[in-house]
Amino acid sequence: CGIVGYIGAQEATAIVLAGLRELEYRGYDSAGLAVLEAGALRCFKAVGKLDNLVAKVGDYRSSGPVTAIGHTRWATHGKPTEANAHPHGLTHSQVVHNGIIENYLALRDSVDTPFLSQTDSEVIVHLFEQRLAQQQPGLSGALAAFRDTLAALRGAYAILLISETLPGHVFFARLGSPLQIGLAADGCHFASSDAAMVGVCATAVYLEDGQWGVAGTDGLQLFDATGAVVEPRLLPLPASS
Ligand code: GLU
Repeated sequence: CGIVGYIGAQEATAIVLAGLRELEYRGYDSAGLAVLEAGALRCFKAVGKLDNLVAKVGDYRSSGPVTAIGHTRWATHGKPTEANAHPHGLTHSQVVHNGIIENYLALRDSVDTPFLSQTDSEVIVHLFEQRLAQQQPGLSGALAAFRDTLAALRGAYAILLISETLPGHVFFARLGSPLQIGLAADGCHFASSDAAMVGVCATAVYLEDGQWGVAGTDGLQLFDATGAVVEPRLLPLPASS
């Protein structure tokens, strides 16, 4: 029901948890976060209040450059359990998703990797890893794999995806579910609404339906649904939400 993300060198769990707190008003049944630090992913999930997730994170704190994604879930497919909480991962990637993937059952049948959750969302990471394996290593291959993944999805989504194969990058997409990218001195922030960004970022790119791309320490690449390059338009964030 809420999404946050971060690329930068600040401690990531504090940033993601603070963002998720600001989105609490939207309601949720479980929460989770994944941090990609020094090429390795760590994932934490908990049912119930954010304090339960804080307890799961425990003493872990990130150090150095990171990419991180977080999620508060309002279950549509699959009970509110820890296994169904986001992020969902496979061998090297993790995804958070708001919305509904309507054709998830058919898509599940199209891959032979085993599923760990009952959610519609998990299929996104399976499709991405399957398509990435067919590409050349590197950012352009990963962008092609992400584009092909999105092309298979029917429904509504805001998606953030990170992968050990591409540290320092966050793949994002929006269709029928809000997502914005905020720019701050300390790095790049992602959120499903202004609430998680006010006071954190001065400006943001509000994604339009069909837009997708990748953000990294080397900048932002934004595309429309046809794959054409879109020039990011920065708008000021409101002073308070
Ligand atoms: N449909 C997804 C699920 O049930 C995402 C729900 C949400 O937007 O929180 O896990």
